[in-house]
Amino acid sequence: MSDAKKINVEELLAKVPTGLLIGDTWRDASDGETFTVENPATGETIATLASATSEDAIAALDAACAVQAEWARTSSRERSEILRRAFDLINERAEEFATLMTLEMGKPIAEARGEVKYGNEFMRWFSEEAVRSYGRHGQTPEGSHRMLTVRKPVGPCLLITPWNFPLAMATRKVGPAIAAGCVMVLKPARLTPLTSQYFAQTMLDAGLPAGVLNVVSGASASAISNPIMEDDRLRKVSFTGSTPVGQQLLKKAADKVLRTSMELGGNAPFIIFEDADLDLAVEGAMGAKMRNIGEACTAANRFLVHESIAEEFAQRFAAKIKELTLGNGLDEDVTVGPLVESKARDSVAALVDEAVKEGATVLTGGAAGEGAGYFYQPTVLVDVAHNAQILKEEIFGPVAPIITFTTEEEAIKLANDTEFGLASYLFTEDYSRMFRVSDQLEYGLLGFNSGVISNAAAPFGGVKQSGMGHEGGIEGIDEYTQLQYIGIRDPYAGR
Ligand code: NAP
Repeated sequence: MSDAKKINVEELLAKVPTGLLIGDTWRDASDGETFTVENPATGETIATLASATSEDAIAALDAACAVQAEWARTSSRERSEILRRAFDLINERAEEFATLMTLEMGKPIAEARGEVKYGNEFMRWFSEEAVRSYGRHGQTPEGSHRMLTVRKPVGPCLLITPWNFPLAMATRKVGPAIAAGCVMVLKPARLTPLTSQYFAQTMLDAGLPAGVLNVVSGASASAISNPIMEDDRLRKVSFTGSTPVGQQLLKKAADKVLRTSMELGGNAPFIIFEDADLDLAVEGAMGAKMRNIGEACTAANRFLVHESIAEEFAQRFAAKIKELTLGNGLDEDVTVGPLVESKARDSVAALVDEAVKEGATVLTGGAAGEGAGYFYQPTVLVDVAHNAQILKEEIFGPVAPIITFTTEEEAIKLANDTEFGLASYLFTEDYSRMFRVSDQLEYGLLGFNSGVISNAAAPFGGVKQSGMGHEGGIEGIDEYTQLQYIGIRDPYAGR
């Protein structure tokens, strides 16, 4: 796509609202405070935004609650058409969204374009699902009542998103919330608010009524989320981010018995059996590990390879990784961008250094990249100790540790040996093994002979400490509805 050259970064940044979206107005913070956004490829400040206070957070909730009843009464067709118009507008602005994401988050521009496509599919999918939210009708077994089950919007929602997929993590929540008839306060990640700010403006441009979506970016997440979560009017929190923050929010949600959706961290095993198609496995490994610079909750974190093919796989995988180009994601030739901040790069470097001290061998990479940005070289490690820290933590960087196994039973045991349960990957040509192993894997998602499986039409969600609830699929809208059962005295009862 050559459109990239048409984007003037300064003009684009000037289009992005820098205030807080409360009702129909982009406004300054109540105390006038601001915070800055950096380009991780250069370390330069690219924008200064209003930083929401607790007072602003409540003003955003006020604006949302003021329109909840009216919004819930709109027809599903009306909400569906707003989503569809938003889908078309995001498509028109695709190159702008992609450029913004590369600027604030660092991902290569081709991947940012991929995220626009993927993220926008949630708008299209939920525009289609909006008119298909069904209830149920039946009769009690005794014949005493007719049973009517209706779905209603859950009510005002707080949506908290992470920095790694700035558009998709917002559309995955905002799309179904609109489809269901909920009003929202969106709190984007401090490191990547620009995409959400522009997305919210795009929603207004698509005809979303003022107050339905409010955006409070800011330097202090808890100053924004705490007062909202303590307010009796809030009905739901949908959070995507790390497990420790999710745990804190769940504790807080318990005080008000809030509905919650939690999309949390992962530690994905990538299992390759001796009968796997190695070409497919290498291609899958590149996607599962290197997409988004390894900064994905679904990123392969541990490569478990049968001992008979481990060396061949490692050599072929390392050879592919050496072909990658590290640099500023705005450069069309770059295939691996910087990590999101210096802290992220340092923590990846520390995990690799520790693994090497514990006996791991570096096949390629193994050090920070050059330049002012937060670069880390794509890295493959072999001979990793089975108890190494790098296998226990979410690496969140372009580093692939490889360990070996001997039996199917051992592979399953190693794969499940984590508190996380989000994505897993399985490569084998034996389909009966696929079913046997998938039955035993404690994961919400399984990629079979595929390294990238996320799709707006599929339910995305983890088990164990990777979270609860689903985004996408026909299930995604249920997270924003509540059931009401109406028992109607049967006119023939007792006659
Ligand atoms: P994070 O530190 O947990 O932050 C996520 C969001 O929560 C940000 O908006 C952050 O705001 C906010 N936050 C932080 N502390 C908070 C608090 N005390 N109260 C309320 N909100 C708070 O996670 P991250 O580093 O942005 O994202 C990476 C993590 O997200 C990884 O663990 C990854 O696996 C997970 N993730 C999961 C999925 C999934 O679908 N399961 C998808 C993507 C990412 P600030 O930015 O202002 O701190």
